[in-house]
Amino acid sequence: MSRDKNPLLDPNRRAAATQMVHGGGKRTDFNETSEAIFLNSGYSYPSSEHAELLFQNKIPGGHNYSRFANPTVDMFQERMALIEGAEAGRAFASGMAAVTNAVMSQVRAGDHIVAAQALFGGCRYVVEDYAPRFGVESTLVDGRDPENFARAMRPNTKVVFLETPTNPTLELVDIKAVADIAHAHGAKLIVDNVFSTALYQKPLQLGADLVTYSATKHIDGQGRVLGGVVLGSRELIEGDVHTFLRQTGATLSAFNAWVLLKGLETYELRIRQMTDSAEKIVAALASHPRINRVIYPHHPSHPQYELAKRQMQRGSTIIALDVKGGQEGAFTLSDSLAVILISNNLGDAKSLITHPRTTTHARFTEEVRLETGVTPGLLRLSVGLESPDDLIADLMYGLDQV
Ligand SMILES: *Cc1c(COP(=O)(O)O)cnc(C)c1O
Repeated sequence: MSRDKNPLLDPNRRAAATQMVHGGGKRTDFNETSEAIFLNSGYSYPSSEHAELLFQNKIPGGHNYSRFANPTVDMFQERMALIEGAEAGRAFASGMAAVTNAVMSQVRAGDHIVAAQALFGGCRYVVEDYAPRFGVESTLVDGRDPENFARAMRPNTKVVFLETPTNPTLELVDIKAVADIAHAHGAKLIVDNVFSTALYQKPLQLGADLVTYSATKHIDGQGRVLGGVVLGSRELIEGDVHTFLRQTGATLSAFNAWVLLKGLETYELRIRQMTDSAEKIVAALASHPRINRVIYPHHPSHPQYELAKRQMQRGSTIIALDVKGGQEGAFTLSDSLAVILISNNLGDAKSLITHPRTTTHARFTEEVRLETGVTPGLLRLSVGLESPDDLIADLMYGLDQV
C-alpha cells in the first residue's frame, strides 16, 4: 500500500492542530470516525495464562481494570501528551485530583514542599493544610522573584509547585529560573498550566518535571464535565503518578474522557478566538476612567511584561480588572451585565466574571488576600466565544453604571 511510506503516519510529525483532532485515536473493528466510549469496568481474558502475564505487566497496553486502564481514557491521555510534547500522561476525575496526585505522589513524611503563595484555592489547601497533616512541611513564597524560591529550599525539599499566570491576579513566575533552582536542590518542579493553556506555554520545555491541567477549563471548555490530567516523562508518569492513581482511584470516567476528546478537537480554535477577543477587550478598557488597573500578561502595562513575552506565546483568555469604588463598584459592574455571566468557572465558551474577594478567595484572611492582590474592586473575567464587540459593549454599559 502506498500509504505505508507517508511520513504523517508518524504522530510525532503532525502539527498540534492535527493532534487535537486525531492524536491518540484508536478505532475498533467497526471503523467509527468519532472515538468509541468504552463504558466497561472490567475485562475478560482468553486464558488464565494471559491474565497472569497481564498482571505481571508483560502485555504492553493491556487492560485489566478501568480504575487505571480504559481505552477511551487512554486516547485522551495520549492526545494530551502529544499536544503537550510529553512522553506520557494520566487522566483524573478533576483538576484537583490531578494536582493532589502530582504533588502527593512525589513526597513522604519528612519531606518539604516550596510553593508560590498565589495559587488556585484548592491547590493552596493541598500544600498548606493537607500535606503538613502527613508530616510534609510546606513554605509559601512570593513567586514573582525566583530568589524567594532559592531562599526557601531545604535539603529535604522534594517538590516545588507553582501556577503561572496566577489566579486571579495574573502574576507570573519564571518557570525556567525556578526549574533550575529546584533541580540544583534535587527537587521536582510541578507547574499548574491552566491559565496559559497547552497552546501558549510549554512548562516541560522550560524545565518542569510535571505539568497539570484542570481539563474542566479550556479542554472541555463548554461547561459540561470535570477532569484533570498530569503530563511528564514516561518514568514519572508510569511510575509514581500511575501507581498513585491506580491505588487511590481518582479515575476519570470513560464518558467524561470522551467529552474531553471532543473538546480537544476545537481546543485550538476556541482558545485562539478567546485570546483574540481578550486582546480587544484589554485594548478597549486599558485607559477607562472607571478602572484603576487592567491586568493582562501580554499588555505592556503588566509589571512582568518582558517575562510574559518570553515565556508565554500569547496572553491567553483571562483578564483581571480593578474597578474604582471597591467592592461596590465591582458588584455594580457585574450586576449590570447582560451577556457575561457571574460565575467562578473559567475557560468556558461563555464569558464569565467573578469577584474573587467574596467567592473563590472568601476563606482567606484580608491580609492573605491583599498579599496576593485580591483587592475589593478586583474582578476576574474569563473571555468566551461571544462576539468581542458585544462583550466590549456589555462591559462599557456596566462601567457606565459604576
Ligand atoms: C480549576 C482549577 C483547578 C482545579 O480543577 P477542578 O477541575 O475544578 O478540580 C486547579 N488549578 C487551577 C489553576 C484551576 O483553574
